[in-house]
Amino acid sequence: MHPMVKPALRRGWRDLNTVQFGMTPAHAMTLGPMDTATGSFLDLLNGTRGPELLRAEGRRMRLPDGHVDGLITRLARAGLLDDARGGGTAGAELRGRKEVLDRLRPDLASLSLTSSEPGEAMHRLAARRSLRVQVRGAGRVGAVLASLLAGAGVGEVEVRDGGRVEPWDVAPGGLPAEAIGERRDEAARRAVRRAAPARPPRRGPRTPAEEANPGHALVILAPRDDVAVHAPVPSAAEDLVASGTPHLYAGVVEGTGVVGPLVLPGETGCAGCLQEDRADRDPVWPRLVAQWRSGGGRPRPVPACDLALATTVAGLAAAHALAFLDGRSPSSAGARWEVSLPGLTWHARPVWGHPACPCGAADKGKEGHTTSKDGEAHETMALQRPSRTSRRQPDARPAGTWRAHV
Ligand SMILES: [Zn+2]
Repeated sequence: MHPMVKPALRRGWRDLNTVQFGMTPAHAMTLGPMDTATGSFLDLLNGTRGPELLRAEGRRMRLPDGHVDGLITRLARAGLLDDARGGGTAGAELRGRKEVLDRLRPDLASLSLTSSEPGEAMHRLAARRSLRVQVRGAGRVGAVLASLLAGAGVGEVEVRDGGRVEPWDVAPGGLPAEAIGERRDEAARRAVRRAAPARPPRRGPRTPAEEANPGHALVILAPRDDVAVHAPVPSAAEDLVASGTPHLYAGVVEGTGVVGPLVLPGETGCAGCLQEDRADRDPVWPRLVAQWRSGGGRPRPVPACDLALATTVAGLAAAHALAFLDGRSPSSAGARWEVSLPGLTWHARPVWGHPACPCGAADKGKEGHTTSKDGEAHETMALQRPSRTSRRQPDARPAGTWRAHV
C-alpha cells in the first residue's frame, strides 16, 4: 500500500496539537493529540511512498520506533487514509488510462469521502465501468440523466424511448438542437457517448439468456409524460419487479420535480404500493388518474417542464442512482423526493410497502418488528435507515483520541 491522507479533505490545525481533516460537518474529523513532527509527517503520506520508505523517513525525522506504523493504522481506522495503488486490477487498469482517469478525478476524490477502506474509492469508481444501466425516457430529464451517468463512469448506459426529438426536448447536457427531428433514442445514445470519458466495454453478441435477462444493475424510469411522473403505472415496471431489478423514478410534473422512489423489489415500496396507498387515502384517486390518462380525447399540449427544474431532477436522480450503484442506500429507497417551484424546498414523501400490492414489500417491512401497528413499524424502519448508510463505523475509532464532530 502507498498510503495517502485523503487529498479531498482539507487540513487545518485547530490548536497546537489538534488537526482537523475536512471542512464540512458531513465528512470532517479532528485528530489529536498530535505533535508538530507527526503533523509534518502527514505531508509525506501523499501516495508516493511505500511503508519501507515511510519508516526510513520517520527515522530520519527522529520519530520513535513504530510511530509511523501506528499513525498509518490510526489514520486508516478513522477512514482518513486512501491507497494510491489500491482498487485491484480494475483500479490499476483505470490508472493506466490517464486521459480517462483525469476526467473522473473529481468523482474519485468524492468517492473517497464516502469510502472508509484505503483503495475503496478507486475500487468503486472502476466498478462503475462494468455496470449496465437502462434509462427509459429521453426527454429533458432522461437524456440529461443518462449523459450524467455515462459521464460519471458508468460503462453501459442504454436509453429507450420512441418518436422523434421535438424542439422542447432540447436541454443542455441532453439532446442538442441539431437532433430535432431525429429518432429520440438514437439522439440520446449519441449524447451518452459524447458524455462518456471512455468507450463502453466491449461485449460479444448477447446470448438468448442475456436477451431474456439483460442484467441491468438499475433501470431508471424518466417518463416525458407528466401523468406518468405523478401517477406511475405499475404495469410499466411489472417486468422489473418480476425480475427483481432495482429501479428509480424521476421526472417533472407541472411545477414539481420528483426523484424516487428507488424500488428494491420485494423490499421497498413500488409504483403499485404507491397507487394502493393513494387510493386508500383518497377514494376518488383512481377516477382522477383515469381522466388524466385518457386526456378526455383532447390533443395534449406540451406539458410544463421548467428547464432548470428538469436539470435539477436529472442531477439529483443521477446522484441517487450512483449512490445505489456504488453500493450505498440513498434516501430515495422507499421515498419520493419532491421539490416545487418557486420555493424549491425538497421534502420526502415515504412510499410504504402496501399489503394489497403483489410485490411483497409490505411483508418485508413487517419482518423484525414486534409492533402491531403499521405506523409504529414504519417509524422504526425510518429510524434504522440512516444507520445503514453510515459512512464510518464509530467503534473503529480508538477511544479518547478522536473527536468526530467539528
Ligand atoms: Zn409494491
